Amino acid sequence: MTGVPAAIEVRGLRKKYGKKLAVDGISFDVPVGTTFGLLGPNGAGKSTTVKILAGLVRPTEGTALVLGGSPTDTVTRRSVGYVPEQFRFPEWMTAREFVEFHAALADVPGGERAARVEECLELVGLSHRRGDILGTFSKGMLQRIGIAQALVGRPRLVILDEPTSALDPIGRRDVRALIMRLREAGVTVVLNSHLLGEVELTCDRIVILDRGRVVEEGTMEALIGDRIVVEVRATDVGEPLLAVIRGRWGQPEALSVESAITSFRVTVESEAELAAIARVMHDAGASIRALVPRRRSLEDLFVAHVLTDESGRSRGAQ
Ligand code: ADP
Repeated sequence: MTGVPAAIEVRGLRKKYGKKLAVDGISFDVPVGTTFGLLGPNGAGKSTTVKILAGLVRPTEGTALVLGGSPTDTVTRRSVGYVPEQFRFPEWMTAREFVEFHAALADVPGGERAARVEECLELVGLSHRRGDILGTFSKGMLQRIGIAQALVGRPRLVILDEPTSALDPIGRRDVRALIMRLREAGVTVVLNSHLLGEVELTCDRIVILDRGRVVEEGTMEALIGDRIVVEVRATDVGEPLLAVIRGRWGQPEALSVESAITSFRVTVESEAELAAIARVMHDAGASIRALVPRRRSLEDLFVAHVLTDESGRSRGAQ
């Protein structure tokens, strides 16, 4: 990694629940100021990792350093804002009281509390509901108030576990804008989300977990960048041709044959390679029906990693 200090440093982390191995020796870094996405299908170990980083679960082996300290250390925890996926909200508290309570927990000085609470309610668009009890809030509003409590201590690291799952598209856009503001303020943000589009729009670095292991890691730029996915449909595609394609562009994805038409996807570095694909296919006697390029998305990358079952089928990726 470059000279930027790490906000999170994970080394050889393992977590077993009884016999169940949830996290199987993962290592990664999150540089300070990064918006970081933790991805993976159901059961990949994301929540366990997030809970370890939030100091709620202790690893069986390995280390996780958060802002240079242990995640369970009270001083470290004061610099971390955490929004759990399933918050237990005290329904009888008003929005203002709830955020005030968390301001006290975060040691915000008494004289600053009222202003800080107001600022956070404003940030999440709930100032107008400050006096209403949480029992009257919609799921989306609860998600916002959860974010407000995490920000009230002006944390240097914010961990958001599925922050937009209960939000409508406008709510999601607002949370995205909020994350951008945090990034501009130099706050490190960890996002555990199954909404790949959201992650693609907000994160500058990701880790993909699968079955407790890291299967991909890097900057969004390096992983997706300008690469192009080419959808190919053709007849007369034999195994020798597929072997040539595999050799030059890697394992064709989503390979299927229907009514004599073979369809698959390959990822290439530039559009210039379309001609090379066409030539290879033509030389092998295949008849091209379609050769359609599009920019590679995070979903392409994700699916490529969780489609590695022997059956070649998705194992229920989110
Ligand atoms: P994800 O968030 O990626 O869906 P989790 O970290 O929740 O994955 O779970 C990883 C694996 O560990 C799953 O197989 C899950 O069933 C198991 N697991 C998670 N929490 C517990 C627990 N408290 N006790 C036993 N098994 C657990």
